[in-house]
Amino acid sequence: MVATVTYHKKVKADQTGGQPGGGSPLLGEPLAIEFANTHYAVRGTLREGIGTPAHLAAWLREHSAVPGSGVRVGAAEVDTFRALRGAIRGLCQACVDARPGDDTDVEVLNAAAAAAPWWPQLHRAGEAYAVSEHTRGQGADAALAAIARDAIAILGGPLGTQIRSCQAPGCVRFFVKDHPRRQWCSAGCGNRARAARHYQRHRARSQ
Ligand SMILES: [Zn+2]
Repeated sequence: MVATVTYHKKVKADQTGGQPGGGSPLLGEPLAIEFANTHYAVRGTLREGIGTPAHLAAWLREHSAVPGSGVRVGAAEVDTFRALRGAIRGLCQACVDARPGDDTDVEVLNAAAAAAPWWPQLHRAGEAYAVSEHTRGQGADAALAAIARDAIAILGGPLGTQIRSCQAPGCVRFFVKDHPRRQWCSAGCGNRARAARHYQRHRARSQ
């Protein structure tokens, strides 16, 4: 089987704003950032988006570009994917803080990227050419490697300086800043942050 994925593919945002069964809301960020955001919060309470094999399988299924969709995963894969997520989150936070990341996180990320081989292929797209990434890897390893490769391309490329953590109260999600004034991961967080500021100003005035 040869599966394909286009890196930096924006994951289609979930318009429902949330999924049952541990699924985290999608924000339309690149694949690796969406994956990092499976650790998230709802009204200040931390949630685990891939806490069980069923959650992980659902997440992989929702991201159809990731090979391994529909593949059976167990507790060992949950641990492996959560370790990768921890490494990506650690390195994203280091970018936000403008400091070097933890070497252990880099090792975890590189090991995940090596879990299955991927290579680019050129193909016609109308009048021009396009590039797609291929693997013969199957199942969870190929998905793990795809997410890790996307994270490496983001962290090691120009987008690495654009990673931000959401500034809304209680939010723990990351996003890639795609316009100069963006401060929040989502419109919902922007509304909550503005409401919190309004409340604080009102309270300060009435004291
Ligand atoms: Zn947020």
